[in-house]
Amino acid sequence: MNEEVLIFGHKNPDTDSICSSMVCEMIDKDNGKNFSKAVRLGNINKETQYVLDYLGLDAPELIEKVEEGQIVFLVDHNEFNQSVDGIEKAKIVSVIDHHRIANFETSEPLCYNAKPYGCTSTIIFEELKQLGCEINRTEAILMASAIISDTLLLKSPTTTEYDKKALAELAKIANIDVNQYGLEMLKAGTDLDDFSEEQLINLDAKNLDKNGEKFVIAQVNTVSIEDVLKRQQQLESAINKKIENEGLCLFVFAITDILNSNTEIIALGSRTDAVENAFNKKLENNRAFLEGVVSRKKQLLPLIDKNF
Ligand code: MG
Ligand code: MG
Ligand code: MG
Repeated sequence: MNEEVLIFGHKNPDTDSICSSMVCEMIDKDNGKNFSKAVRLGNINKETQYVLDYLGLDAPELIEKVEEGQIVFLVDHNEFNQSVDGIEKAKIVSVIDHHRIANFETSEPLCYNAKPYGCTSTIIFEELKQLGCEINRTEAILMASAIISDTLLLKSPTTTEYDKKALAELAKIANIDVNQYGLEMLKAGTDLDDFSEEQLINLDAKNLDKNGEKFVIAQVNTVSIEDVLKRQQQLESAINKKIENEGLCLFVFAITDILNSNTEIIALGSRTDAVENAFNKKLENNRAFLEGVVSRKKQLLPLIDKNF
C-alpha cells in the first residue's frame, strides 16, 4: 500500500502555497517521517522562483490529479474547487489554512488547523514552536518569504500580530534584512511583460461559487497600475472569452500596486452589479479604483460575495 502523503497548496500556487508545503515536507523529514512529499498544482510564479533561486532549491513536482484513496495534506486552501482534481475521493488527513472554510467535507476525522492569520506559514511556525522543533535557515527563509508575500511585507490589512512576530523571529534565524529581501522578492513577482493576456488573467485566479453562480477574482501585483492598463483591451478580450467558456457570471481582475497599496479592478460579466454595490461605485470603462485595497481575501471577496 502506498502510504505517501502528498502535501500541496491551491491551484495557481502562490509563494505561501509552495513554501508552506515545502516546509511541511522538510520538517517531516527532519523528524524521520519519509512519507511526506510536497507537490504543486500549477506553475511557479516569478516571485516564488526568486525564493527558490535564492535558496538553490528545485520546485516541487507538478501533479494534475490524485487517485482515489490518495493520502493528502492541504495547506493554504480547503475549498475543493481550488484543489487538485480528484480531491473528493482522496483521504484528507490534515489541513493547515488561513482562509474561510467552504466547499469542503471529509468522510473521516482529520487534523485541521485554521487560524485567521495573514499567512499559512505563520500557523506552521507557531505549530513548530509549540512542538519545540528546530527550524533551520532554509525553512526560515521559506516561511519568511510566504509571510512577506501574503502580507505584502506586513502592509496588507490581513496582517496580524502573529505574522509580525513570526516574521521577526524567522528573519533572525535566516539572518536576512526583511525589507531589502522582501522588496526584491515582491518586485520579482511584478515583472509581467512576457505574459500573454490569457496568462495574466490566470496567474493568480481564484475560482469561487455563490449558490451555483460561478465567479473568479484574479489578482496581479505591480509597481505601475498604468503599465498593466495599457493592455486593458486585450485583457478584456481574454476575460470575456473565459467568461463564455467557463460559464462565469463575473470576472474581477485586480491590479494591485504593491508600493502604494491601492488596487484598480477590471470587472466583466452579467453580475458586475455585485461589484458596484460592494464598493458603492459605478464602474467606468469597466474599471474602478479602490484606494487602500490590496487584499482579495479581506477586502474584495467578502464584500463581493455579500452583494451577490
Ligand atoms: Mg495562497
Ligand atoms: Mg496564504
Ligand atoms: Mg495571495
